[in-house]
Amino acid sequence: MQRHRVKSGIRVELARRDAGSTTGFRGGKKRAAAELARLSERLEELQELLWAEHRHKVLVVLQGMDASGKDGTIRHVFEGVNPAGVKVAAFKKPTPEELAHDFLWRVHPKVPGLGELVIFNRSHYEDVLVVRAMELVPRAVWEPRYEQIVNFEKLLADTGTTILKFFLHIDADEQRERFQARIDDPTKRWKFNPGDLETRKLWGSYTEAYEDALSRTSTDFAPWYVVPANKKWYRNLVVATVLVEALEGLGMTYPPGPPGLDGLVLE
Ligand code: AMP
Ligand code: MG
Repeated sequence: MQRHRVKSGIRVELARRDAGSTTGFRGGKKRAAAELARLSERLEELQELLWAEHRHKVLVVLQGMDASGKDGTIRHVFEGVNPAGVKVAAFKKPTPEELAHDFLWRVHPKVPGLGELVIFNRSHYEDVLVVRAMELVPRAVWEPRYEQIVNFEKLLADTGTTILKFFLHIDADEQRERFQARIDDPTKRWKFNPGDLETRKLWGSYTEAYEDALSRTSTDFAPWYVVPANKKWYRNLVVATVLVEALEGLGMTYPPGPPGLDGLVLE
């Protein structure tokens, strides 16, 4: 699954990355379901350990075009974890108060503390994505943000945060099918936002903005993964695998607990 990691300094061209790819997993959808169940269970244990040890912080960033499956990924990958140990922070259109501050002002209070795992559903990256594609501020304002983002993430990493960033990569055909399904299915219609069609017209501008963000902000301490996301089962598997491997790599152990308990038997 590490094949999907964006190496620091390389230029990402999304058209050259197949959104329908499933190359990192041998076996189809059925074996994938069993594998995802195994990973979910492992994730549950690791999250418990993260909390018990209280030494590390974990930040997961989810980005992607509309209907790329950010909510679905959260639902499926984190199905098993204790809701008390995981927080989701969703970033919407900024309020007037947020707009009156620098773009990281609303983000910093949401980052994980010791023992916490926080998932960002959209993030500070919106300020170089939607903001750039829709020309909400001039270039002179968004251009310095790439460097500001890298510096911000360096601060988080230097203070004990493991950062994993996932771009859920769907192609324009897949988005059309998902939008159509939202329109046709009364149980999905609530998810459809007419504004999404305006955004869809800017697919090219969004793609350029994503390519720049992925190319300029993938670092050793906060790597991006371009996750082929047309196939939901593969998308879930990539995110779960990368997450479990990263948590296992922390070498966490349970704290010893209070002294004097060795061999203690209660009457
Ligand atoms: P959703 O995630 O579908 O609930 O939609 C949230 C909306 O808020 C999306 O259209 C985002 O592009 C928008 N949004 C999030 N962050 C920003 C931002 N910093 N500036 C402008 N729009 C934003
Ligand atoms: Mg939406």
